[in-house]
Parts: sequence; C-alpha cells; structure tokens
Amino acid sequence: MKPIVIITGASRGIGAATAIKAAKQGYAVCVNYLHNDLAAKNIVTQIEQNGGSAIAIAADVSQEIEVVKLFNTVDQELGSVTALVNNVGILEHKMRLDQMDMARLNRIFCTNITSHFLCAREAIKRMSTLYGGNGGSIVNVSSAASRLGSPGEYIDYAASKGAIDTLTIGLSREVSKENIRVNCVRPGFIYTDIHANSGEAYRVERLASSLPMQRGGTPDEIANAIMWLLSEEASYITGTFIVAAGGK
Ligand code: NAP
Repeated sequence: MKPIVIITGASRGIGAATAIKAAKQGYAVCVNYLHNDLAAKNIVTQIEQNGGSAIAIAADVSQEIEVVKLFNTVDQELGSVTALVNNVGILEHKMRLDQMDMARLNRIFCTNITSHFLCAREAIKRMSTLYGGNGGSIVNVSSAASRLGSPGEYIDYAASKGAIDTLTIGLSREVSKENIRVNCVRPGFIYTDIHANSGEAYRVERLASSLPMQRGGTPDEIANAIMWLLSEEASYITGTFIVAAGGK
C-alpha cells in the first residue's frame, strides 16, 4: 500500500514543491490549502500527469473543526495518514511589537502554532501504536527566524517558529516509543509568495548577497530536506533540525 501524506499549505511555495516530490517518491498526497482552488488543482494535475495520486482539500487548519474534517476526508478518500508535513505558515506586514494589535497576534499564532498542534494531534491518533496504528513520520516547517528573532520586522512570526521548534522537541520524545518520528526543517530566505505579505515581495533578492552562499533558496531545496526527514532513510532520527538557510 502507498504511504499517505498530508501537506498543509501545499497549493504554493514550499508545500507545493514538497507535494510534487512526495508524489514522485510514491506517496498518495493530500494537498491542503486555504482559498486558492486554482493553484491547488494545478498541483494535483501536475502530480496526476506524472502518474502520481493526489487530492486537494480546502481547509483552514487554524480551525479545529476544519482540521478534524480534513483528516476524516483523507481517511475516506486516501486511507489512514502515514506522514504529515506541518508546513502552513503566514507572516504579516513588517512592524515593531509596539504597533501590533491582538487580532494580528491571534492570526499569526493560530495559523503558525495552533494548526501544527491540531494536525499533529489528528495524525498521532491515526499513526500511534497506542491507537492501533503502525507508526509514521511528522516534519514541521519552522524558520531560521526562530533563532534570529526578526527584530523590527515580525517578532510575532519568529516567536511562532520558536514554538514550533519546542513542539518538535517535546512531541518527538512524547511519541517516539509509538513508532512516530518528529523532525523539523528551518528554511532561510526562499523564493516564494510569502514575502509579498510582509510588504516586500523582493525581500530574498535584496538579502541574498548577505548570505554566506550569496543566494536565496528554492522551494525544491527545502522540499528535499523535508522529504529526507520524512523518509525511512532518516529512520534513526527524531527531535532534530535541518537548517536550510544558505549558511546563515
Ligand atoms: P506561501 O508561498 O506563502 O504559501 C502559503 C500556503 O499556505 C498556501 O498554500 C496557502 O493556501 C496556505 N495557507 C495559508 N493559510 C492557511 C490556512 N489557514 N490553512 C490552510 N492553508 C493555508 O508560503 P511558503 O513561503 O512556501 O512557506 C511555507 C512554510 O515555510 C511556512 O511555514 C513559512 O513560515 C516557512 N518558511 C518560509 C520561508 C520563505 O522564505 N519562504 C522561510 C522560512 C520559513 P492558498 O494558496 O489557498 O492561499
């Protein structure tokens, strides 16, 4: 039977690159997304044209009811999930903390933190040997920002990624006896749409030369790290991090 992966936020950027790679490696893929039906369908079509299998499911993973529905739909349409990529993450316009309101903080924390907890919870209920499952693998997508803090730009986003780092450590130890591995990738500056949300679409171009490798990264390069941690090649690795940030 094919391994089954749910990738949150997979209609664009790093999630989309990971979905395409996972399908090439033989996974049946659930492409989760929020609003962009066209982009999600495009990823599913690309996968199917290459002989893979995928479904697209719109669900706001910051909402518990939608996460539960997402996993139940995957149970029915693909089968019980064996792998999860907690990829979803947003940032908002650059500002100092003294300008941030509660609504913004809630949006960032619910989308970037709560969603990862809720999706991991649903995955564990299906993967854990405690619940009769056969185990599985979870990869969380954090950011180099968790170590740098993003002062003057978006410390809310950076702090949300700090929470994902801690989730990775704690959860990996909580479920390691249940045949579930939990790891994390921390990307640096990657060419995706996310930077436009901060008000600087060409952020990567501006900062690339400040990196030791003198360039930004591609979504594909992050997908490679995610898929390796997800795979059996990383079978003795849990609770750890790959920093994919061009040397920073
Ligand atoms: P992106 O290109 O902006 O794509 C965002 C994806 O998330 C889209 O598929 C979007 O769906 C989906 N999405 C947004 N809110 C959602 C929600 N509430 N529920 C479900 N799906 C939702 O993002 P990216 O740059 O690839 O980032 C992916 C991950 O890498 C994030 O966790 C980000 O923090 C992290 N990261 C990125 C960089 C970078 O430089 N790009 C650096 C470090 C870390 P729609 O298409 O429907 O809007």
